[in-house]
Amino acid sequence: MSVTQPITTPPVREAPEHNPFESMLRRFDKAAETLGLDDGLYQILKAPEKELKVAIPIQRDDGTYEVLEGWRVQHNSAMGPCKGGIRYSPHVNVDEVRALAAWMTWKCAIVGVPFGGAKGGVRCNPREMSLKEIEKVTRRYTSAIMDIIGPDRDVPAPDMYTNEQVMAWIMDTYSVHHRHTVTGVVTGKPWGLGGSMGRKEATGRGLLTMVREASRVKKLDLAKAEVVVQGSGNVGGTIAVLLSEIGVNIKAMSDIDGGLVNEKGLDVPALVAYIEKHRTLDGFKGGDRCSNQELLELRCDILLPCATENEITPANAGKLNCKIIVEGANGPTAADADAILDSNDVFVIPDILANAGGVVVSYFEWVQDRRGYFWDERDVNNRLHKTMQKAFRQVLKRTKTSKVNMRTAAYMDGIDRVAHVTKMRGLYP
Ligand code: GLU
Repeated sequence: MSVTQPITTPPVREAPEHNPFESMLRRFDKAAETLGLDDGLYQILKAPEKELKVAIPIQRDDGTYEVLEGWRVQHNSAMGPCKGGIRYSPHVNVDEVRALAAWMTWKCAIVGVPFGGAKGGVRCNPREMSLKEIEKVTRRYTSAIMDIIGPDRDVPAPDMYTNEQVMAWIMDTYSVHHRHTVTGVVTGKPWGLGGSMGRKEATGRGLLTMVREASRVKKLDLAKAEVVVQGSGNVGGTIAVLLSEIGVNIKAMSDIDGGLVNEKGLDVPALVAYIEKHRTLDGFKGGDRCSNQELLELRCDILLPCATENEITPANAGKLNCKIIVEGANGPTAADADAILDSNDVFVIPDILANAGGVVVSYFEWVQDRRGYFWDERDVNNRLHKTMQKAFRQVLKRTKTSKVNMRTAAYMDGIDRVAHVTKMRGLYP
């Protein structure tokens, strides 16, 4: 089989030291307490419904065999089929996948898409693997989790270091076993193979709505604002391009090796094209190098952490010099940094709201697959914007009625909705 689309994977960061599942639980507890959540419902919503651990044996290109570990965690399916990405990384572990699965439950509920939450991961380093090896891992992993996924059960999507090509392989493997093409088994597929227009840019585009809404609340004139973007992958790269297209000054961006800063503003299209070509921003002449840590602490109006988990911790939270944080990554802020950001009056748009654009357009893709009728990009983008704007305004409203920050309000919104549905469905038997 010829593969036309190369997989590009940035280097992988060190494993996070804060446990993401603990971070999720701390926020969950706080929101549940503020909501006055019934203890029985608390127990039900906290526990992941299903955790599947699989062994993935593959033969490497050099003929040797290797057995990788993989997981699929379904946190909650009260709202509908479980939904959530699959990541390939050397640091994936069950706690991380659990946290990410729970975040998907709240995220889907906040933006009102009829899905539950799930996540998958394979512990491997795609940087050190050939495309053929990545294909083998993908197909074997798909076959290992086949009994629990499906368009009405659990619908995977891309996440860190997986992409449209990986989704196409999952769809193909699942379809071969089911003897017919089942496009709705995954989202984030290539266009023309059941994929949706606008899906690839959806998370970044959703962030743009968040940036606009947050600026409105904080009375910040975007035309004069300074923005720092941590990351330059699909999410960071897209939001930087979208903001620069409307004339916003992107002061700094980064990749795994560090940042690039230019007080007068980076030439974002040129930088993104450079990164695409060279796989690093190193060598780009248009700014000064800085470390990832320095980048986070730069003075700016809006900081967009779009890299990975636990970038903002108690060690650096007090040194941040921004008014607004819009979380493009999942879990970029450790739970014990929340209070520091609050006391410094930083307006934080939390991940489970801010980066929900991806799963919103995944939902649109799933709907289009089921109907076999595809929308144009403008339609997708308009619906995405409306969905994100509505979710932002609902969460903001709750900050006022419940006197909590945006993160707690977002958790409260998500938990409240899933709790309501759980109560209505009742308990079997
Ligand atoms: N991996 C993305 C996320 O964390 C997208 C999930 C999806 O589309 O199902 O939100």
